[in-house]
Amino acid sequence: MVDLSANDGFGECSCKRWQCHVWPKIRDKLGEPATATTTCAHVRAALGFFLREVLKAWIRQHGQDRG
Ligand SMILES: [Zn+2]
Repeated sequence: MVDLSANDGFGECSCKRWQCHVWPKIRDKLGEPATATTTCAHVRAALGFFLREVLKAWIRQHGQDRG
């Protein structure tokens, strides 16, 4: 279970890696840019999906105006 909107955009995941290793880093470094150690594979996968959906929506709105 991934919640991308949690932790100021860092996201939150219920997996063991996130709970044990990622959360302490986010908690200590909140406000710093995200790095490989502040995500897990599930958050990255969800981010990729979210980004693609946003891009598709943006392209629908703007991408075809240039004709
Ligand atoms: Zn995870």
